[in-house]
Amino acid sequence: MSDLLSIEEALQRVLARVRPLAAERVPTTAASGRVLADDVIARVDLPPFPSSAMDGYALRAEDTPGRLPVVFRIAAGLPAERPLAAGEAMAISTGGAVPDGADAVVQIERVVESDNSLKVPEQVERGTNVRPVGGDVRAGDVVLPRGSMLGAAQIGALAAIGAPEVSVARRPRVAVLSTGTELRAPGESLGPGQIYESNGPMLAAALEVSGALVERIGPVPDDEGEHRRAFERALDADVLVSSGGVSVGPHDLIRRILVELGVEEHFWGVAVRPGKPLAFGSRGDTLVFGLPGNPVSSLVSLELFVRPALLALQGMADPGPLYEAAVLASPLRRNPARAHLARARAVTSSSGTTLEPLSGQESHMIARAAGANALVLVPAGEGELAAGEAARFLRL
Ligand code: AMP
Ligand code: MG
Repeated sequence: MSDLLSIEEALQRVLARVRPLAAERVPTTAASGRVLADDVIARVDLPPFPSSAMDGYALRAEDTPGRLPVVFRIAAGLPAERPLAAGEAMAISTGGAVPDGADAVVQIERVVESDNSLKVPEQVERGTNVRPVGGDVRAGDVVLPRGSMLGAAQIGALAAIGAPEVSVARRPRVAVLSTGTELRAPGESLGPGQIYESNGPMLAAALEVSGALVERIGPVPDDEGEHRRAFERALDADVLVSSGGVSVGPHDLIRRILVELGVEEHFWGVAVRPGKPLAFGSRGDTLVFGLPGNPVSSLVSLELFVRPALLALQGMADPGPLYEAAVLASPLRRNPARAHLARARAVTSSSGTTLEPLSGQESHMIARAAGANALVLVPAGEGELAAGEAARFLRL
């Protein structure tokens, strides 16, 4: 492992192997968290008619100031039955259709109405409180481009233009395979030398958030035959994510077994701490990630490489990882040879975001890592990142 790749080089090699997944149509109401496979074009103008931004009175600006008869009451969904004539006013609610002939809405608080007669004491400007047709989006315009991740606002926009369903990338099938003879499932009792299996549940949870349909396999004992069987099955998925067994110990079988099963290895070893012995390969269109076994190493590798690959598979325009800027609250020592992803708490206030590194930065300390909401990037080099210095971080 003398030639460690930088994080950027390793990510490039991963993304170069991504073949985007086919599309499928889903109801808009079920599309949250999915990635658009096609541009979505508005079929209607939004708003579809000139609508009132206020509760008040529709009128002609040139009739103000003055006293006007109130000839109709318009509510949302109940438009006027005829155009507004010169010298008239119509009461209107927010979202009501501004009638033909009117060019402004005066706010209810600025006028006095009694006996269907409206007193408008001040001049009203044309266009006041009228939301123009197509002011939000015009029919024929792109509402959302392909590659958009659908969150709440995007689902709202799709519903607002009346799209009952959308074309999205199908969800990637991901096999999460844990290896290690020492691993027991939660609920079992621990014998000598045994620990609970935590990578499988952790990786599954992280991947499901990014759209994966996860199948969990294992824990698979450190036995060649068992490994061969389990990995062959897992290679049916779009993405295989294993943990453990990628180091140089006598029980680290994974890289050899993968090669036997026809997986081409694209790299092994990244200049990052934790997460150095990451292996990446592919067989056909299946991407294969051999993550290190230490839980924090697995978590970091996932955020740096697996999640971006999963989003790229779904055609996301910018699959990340997304680094944010902040200021360090206390110093972090740099490692001369490897970038360090340090667990920290990001605290945001009106003066910006500060990063407080946590105690307990070793790669087995998943319970400590559970208190973190940020991974601070400490680039390789001499000395330290000082308190008060700018730093980049990934949000967990
Ligand atoms: P390995 O790379 O297989 O030598 O694993 C490195 C360390 O991570 C060992 O202490 C393993 O016991 C631990 N480990 C491996 N896989 C898991 C897992 N799925 N859950 C929790 N710890 C694990
Ligand atoms: Mg192991």
